Amino acid sequence: MATNPATRPEGKRIPHLIAGEWRQSSCDSWIDVTDPATQDVLCQAPNTTPDEMEQAIASAKAAFKTWKDVPTPERARMMLRYQALLKEHHDELGEILAKETGKTFADAKGDVWRGIEVVEQACNISTSMMGEAAEQIANGIDTRTITEPLGVCTAITPFNFPAMIPLWFFPLAIACGNTFVLKPSEQDPMTPNRLAELFLEAGFPPDVLQVVHGGKEQVDVLLAHEDVKAVSFVGSVPVAHYIYRTATQNLKRCQAFAGAKNHMVVMPDAPKQQTIDNLVGSAVGAAGQRCMANSVAVLVGEAREWIPDIKAAMEGVKPGRWDDENAGYGAQINKAAAQRIKDLIGKGVDEGATLELDGRDCTVEGYPDGNWVGPTLFSGVKPGQTVYDQEIFGPVLSLVDAGSLEEAIAIINSNPYGNGTSIFTSSGAAARKYSHEIEVGQVGVNIPIPVPVPFFSFTGGKASFYGDLHAYGKQAIKFFTETKTVISRWFDDDHLPTGPNLTINMK
Ligand code: NAD
Repeated sequence: MATNPATRPEGKRIPHLIAGEWRQSSCDSWIDVTDPATQDVLCQAPNTTPDEMEQAIASAKAAFKTWKDVPTPERARMMLRYQALLKEHHDELGEILAKETGKTFADAKGDVWRGIEVVEQACNISTSMMGEAAEQIANGIDTRTITEPLGVCTAITPFNFPAMIPLWFFPLAIACGNTFVLKPSEQDPMTPNRLAELFLEAGFPPDVLQVVHGGKEQVDVLLAHEDVKAVSFVGSVPVAHYIYRTATQNLKRCQAFAGAKNHMVVMPDAPKQQTIDNLVGSAVGAAGQRCMANSVAVLVGEAREWIPDIKAAMEGVKPGRWDDENAGYGAQINKAAAQRIKDLIGKGVDEGATLELDGRDCTVEGYPDGNWVGPTLFSGVKPGQTVYDQEIFGPVLSLVDAGSLEEAIAIINSNPYGNGTSIFTSSGAAARKYSHEIEVGQVGVNIPIPVPVPFFSFTGGKASFYGDLHAYGKQAIKFFTETKTVISRWFDDDHLPTGPNLTINMK
């Protein structure tokens, strides 16, 4: 097995992980993975071939036969070792991640950390998989439920959290006794490769996790394959629709997390500077490439007077390369993404929104080829304008006016998306009313990015999610398992033959 293929590949071509081996693909087309600040090619990811996809699924299927019977405390012990290894390699993982995503080092480490927290939940698998039991549900009859794994599960993950999001899925699925095929984003595949390498080092059987690379072609094999039982997806809206429709049509269990448009309501009684700091961090942090970024602020009443202060705070944030400690955020993931954001800013101007701060001509000294977009602020934005309706996925904040909290709630409830939202206020009554009436899956009260820790679940809703059971927490255990019910009776001397029971009642 090659050592550390994620960071020291043979040449620039990284392998995929199939049947417990880091194998070089025999594909004839390779995907360039570039440094978003320089365009340097960091590595090339394979387009795992159809044959290799078949081998990965077959290996996962074969591994399931024995892995499902490994006692849960033993699985949990391996997971504890994995958690320790991830912590030990936290800086190293952060650096790999920062280089290929462009995120600042601090933010990249945060991405890894939020994934480690899910692995910690997987360490509790023995208790979280426990079933239920009831004695004497009829005369001499007892019932118990058993939670059993499904088989081969898969996740198709996006570029923006290459550690956290793969870790939302494969550790819990595998802890439940499933085996796994991960298809991470082709734009930053080194981080998931390194996560998998540490997974093997933790002592798991080498074939319970497979990592394949590529895009739609590879995803289509997973969606069509009869041996794949469950599909987890995170990514853009059109692809989420496609994945959910195709997977469910092929009779698979599916959960698909999609794009978003998140609103922060700013009440005039909110503590001003803390609110502005939190708003700006949420809107432009990670270059706006977060599904939970608050990209719209609804300024209620006199909070509209804060626009110059919001602008000043945004002007103070400068993008830079991952290793620049003064950088507020990094470059956009690729040139096309940066251009798309700039085009949308142009559209905002054309459609009548007021451009308070324009990030289109942003440059960063020393990195003329970076995918830079500076902090951008629009005021007077209205539903129906493209910058409001579309997910921009860049460091662009739109300000919408509302005369009252009721009006703010009405605007947000009319929006199709429902991933996250926040209210900043000093009023418990306003916060209570907002949390109760808002139709969004995750609500922050004076919290700008309300992503739950893993002993809850990630409960984005409406058009930001397709499925029934969400990621991590109790819902993930249900997603990755099936319930078997055992109803039992033992005949003793008191049980005399009574003739055939021709009813459905238990006697
Ligand atoms: P994307 O949809 O382009 O890609 C996601 C994954 O799908 C990748 O692995 C990619 O290879 C694969 N893919 C791309 N096109 C495909 C196709 N036609 N058929 C099958 N598979 C395909 O998303 P992205 O640009 O990597 O990620 C950004 C998006 O993800 C944003 O919209 C963001 O809001 C969303 N996101 C949502 C959440 C959430 O929890 N709701 C979290 C993170 C990101």
